[in-house]
Amino acid sequence: MGSYELICPGCGRVVEDSYTNLCPNCGSGSPLLRTKYEDARLLPLNVEGFWKFLPWLPCGISGPKFNGMTVVYESEHLAAELGLKNLHIAFNGYWPERNANLITCTFKELEAPPTLQRAQEKGVLNMVLPSAGNTARAFINGVRTYDIKLYVVIPYNYKHKLVLPFEVTKNVKVIAVNNGADYSDSIAFATRMTKELGWVNEGGARNVARRDGLGTVLLEAVLHTKKIPKHYFQAVGSGTGGIAAWEASKRLLADGRFGEQPMKLHLSQNHPFTPMVDAWNKNLKELPKETEAQQKEAIVAVYAQVLTNRNPPYSIGGGMYDALTASNGVMYSISNDEALSAGKLFEKTEGIDIVPASCVAVASLKKATEEGGVATDDLILLNITGGGGERLEEDYDMHRAHPDLVCDRDTDMQDLKNALEDHP
Ligand SMILES: *Cc1c(COP(=O)(O)O)cnc(C)c1O
Ligand SMILES: [Zn+2]
Repeated sequence: MGSYELICPGCGRVVEDSYTNLCPNCGSGSPLLRTKYEDARLLPLNVEGFWKFLPWLPCGISGPKFNGMTVVYESEHLAAELGLKNLHIAFNGYWPERNANLITCTFKELEAPPTLQRAQEKGVLNMVLPSAGNTARAFINGVRTYDIKLYVVIPYNYKHKLVLPFEVTKNVKVIAVNNGADYSDSIAFATRMTKELGWVNEGGARNVARRDGLGTVLLEAVLHTKKIPKHYFQAVGSGTGGIAAWEASKRLLADGRFGEQPMKLHLSQNHPFTPMVDAWNKNLKELPKETEAQQKEAIVAVYAQVLTNRNPPYSIGGGMYDALTASNGVMYSISNDEALSAGKLFEKTEGIDIVPASCVAVASLKKATEEGGVATDDLILLNITGGGGERLEEDYDMHRAHPDLVCDRDTDMQDLKNALEDHP
């Protein structure tokens, strides 16, 4: 069914897909690989939920049933409050009153199905996934219906975040990295696991399945609005969602039926940790050079912790800098106070709780309206990347995924493997 090629924009070659996330020809300097789909037009299948977008996902066939999807609707109350006339909300989370049923409550849940399906089709047996929490919860959910072993690597300090509305299955192992490790340290640890044990790294922003999975947010939006939005608002940590939205917008432009105006990216980070905003506002392709200690000091002061990736794919070919450049994008630095009050405004006007990152996105939209960055009648898409966590707890019993192993940053990999084998 699904038919695609992997293309390397660096050397222009078609790359054979064996769960390939790096061009073998260009090596570690490889730009982000891209998918090219046989259908240049958006032709959703006549099925419910996520897999309707199979023709634009890098999978041969649909995976197990997954009815979850972004819910897109036109805002009435928040729009009125901000003086906007054409504001659409892409809600990713749990909100049964609006048929929103992503039970891990963020848009990361859209990354897991195509990634796991692609991995299974390519024969991946062991997958390593570093995560600050939301990606881990999304994949722990997705992998329940796959025969893939998932090793989730989290900073020890984040372990309380692995709370889920179901019991964790046996094919998941949670590895917590101790010693003040943060998200970027868990990424480094996971990289060592893949290099030294030969397991497959899920791939992060380099994984086309992850980006095209996130791209479905925009696809769902245009099915609703019939037009590519003029402005796209999202809070970013790695920028994967922003890059994905940009890539999806280019596909929709090429389709031709959804307008000819390119979409402008409006992306935000949470002050005082705003490396991409700082670089972009100086029009620099390189992120500011700060010491790890400086970065960590800023990170602890941030309300929206999922936005604190220290090594985002900003400078990489086809990454955040290129997407912002091509879309004539804007970046916003949002304070904790601005985020908190925007979150209250959203809950009051739209009637659902949202996660801190989404509060940052709402604050950036408010700022854009105040600064004249958007016009009253412009078609705007606000990506609420996560919400409904409180609503979910009214309906579900929650379970905690405890670490199976606690490691140090320099734990020997053979010891780690032995320890995992002792506790199957
Ligand atoms: C991961 C995440 C983000 C940031 O997304 P990126 O585009 O990958 O930077 C924003 N909001 C939520 C809820 C997230 O989980
Ligand atoms: Zn190449």
